[in-house]
Amino acid sequence: MLQIYNTLSRSVEEFKPINPLHVSIYSCGPTVYDYQHIGHMRRYVGDDILVRVIRANGFDVKHVMNITDVGHLTSDSDTGEDKMEKGAKKFGMSVWDIAKKFEKQFFDSSDLLNIKRPNVVIHATDAIQDQVDLIQILEEKGFTYKTSDGIYFDTSKFPRYFELSHQNPDELKAGARVDMIEGKKNITDFALWKFSSKGEKRQMEWDSPWGIGFPGWHIECSAMSMKNLGPTFDIHTGGIDHITIHHTNEIAQSQAASNKQFVKYWVHHNFLQVNGQKMSKSLGNFYTVEDIQKKGFDPLALRYLYLQTHYRQEMNFTFKSLDGAQNALKHLRSIISEWDEPKIGCAEFEGRFVNAVNDDVNMPEALAIAWELVKSDYPSKAKAESLYKMDKILGLQLNRHEEIKVPEDVQKLIDEREGLRKQKRFHLSDQIRHKIRKSGYDVIDEKGEKTKIVRI
Ligand code: AMP
Ligand code: ZN
Repeated sequence: MLQIYNTLSRSVEEFKPINPLHVSIYSCGPTVYDYQHIGHMRRYVGDDILVRVIRANGFDVKHVMNITDVGHLTSDSDTGEDKMEKGAKKFGMSVWDIAKKFEKQFFDSSDLLNIKRPNVVIHATDAIQDQVDLIQILEEKGFTYKTSDGIYFDTSKFPRYFELSHQNPDELKAGARVDMIEGKKNITDFALWKFSSKGEKRQMEWDSPWGIGFPGWHIECSAMSMKNLGPTFDIHTGGIDHITIHHTNEIAQSQAASNKQFVKYWVHHNFLQVNGQKMSKSLGNFYTVEDIQKKGFDPLALRYLYLQTHYRQEMNFTFKSLDGAQNALKHLRSIISEWDEPKIGCAEFEGRFVNAVNDDVNMPEALAIAWELVKSDYPSKAKAESLYKMDKILGLQLNRHEEIKVPEDVQKLIDEREGLRKQKRFHLSDQIRHKIRKSGYDVIDEKGEKTKIVRI
């Protein structure tokens, strides 16, 4: 039975989907105004693993993700610069081209990390009408009010506002900043629709019943998730920073509109730090998956590295640890390359692996069990059968065998031996093979196939 930590209850719960066969999952996707770095990508690998684990439990999964391509403001409290317009200026492109460029960069990184694409990917700009419709429902139900700069959600009308974040409203009030938007009634109120400023022509703006402008960030996730998965669905994922504002606001809007519970299980991924600091361009510790690849690393070594830390734990990235992960992955592949064809499997290890992944997706434990299997005395065909099954969740493409790089002098011996064998001078070729073995390698002659080189 799958157990999963639910941020809503702050405890590990048994996973019981609404429908016994089909599981519905929504993930907050990237804002495509700049590069997605290896911190962002840790989250998406986490989502990918979760979906794979749920599928391995026999469920059919519908996984929906949005692409935030509408400009939102840099601060969570609806102030600051528009992220997309800022990105467009920085790269000297239009907001629409920026969105395309960074969506591609995101999916390229996802592919390199062997992340399976969600079943449905929706762009916020393709769902403006759905967002307007939802705001209208909230307006009809009396949850909104108008200020000089937009339509706001009145959080005082939604009594369970702090259900997810467990925040204390009194403490929030004490710490509130003074630069609150004029006309906002409560510090936690948030924009559903923002008006374009008078005289300003934004690159992205739409007409609405309230005037020309653009939707608030939170409304897109409520509108698009409910449209694709219904008013109540199983799992919603995001980064831990989404708990207090973005997801709290999603719950308020969705439940105020539908009168139903919005999400059963909230899953939040912890952050990636670099040498103990936040990843940022100014600190020079900002890396994309492509950067990692350019430095000579296999992107799947990064995936391996992510798997070594539990998704609810903060992870510290160093190149030393990436190097370690790459060596471990190479070693694993080279061991596997010498195994016989998969057959039968080891029930003992498969069972333990399933228990680990079902224990709140404990991938560090699952990886350790995979290694125990590799080092066990089971015949290699059985180990191969089980390991390839495990790899459906690990996603490390373990059957992509590592090419063995043979030193030049050993390669000379191999070629020499090959020549002697062709001349049927087997006694001499055996002597050469002995030399090859002394150098730590061996050659296996398989009928009708090229001679296989292995490390011993
Ligand atoms: P940003 O594009 O920087 O605003 O980040 C968007 C989202 O990506 C954040 O809200 C986080 O959920 C996630 N994210 C950003 N940086 C990291 C990081 N270093 N580690 C994990 N997730 C991150
Ligand atoms: Zn979202």
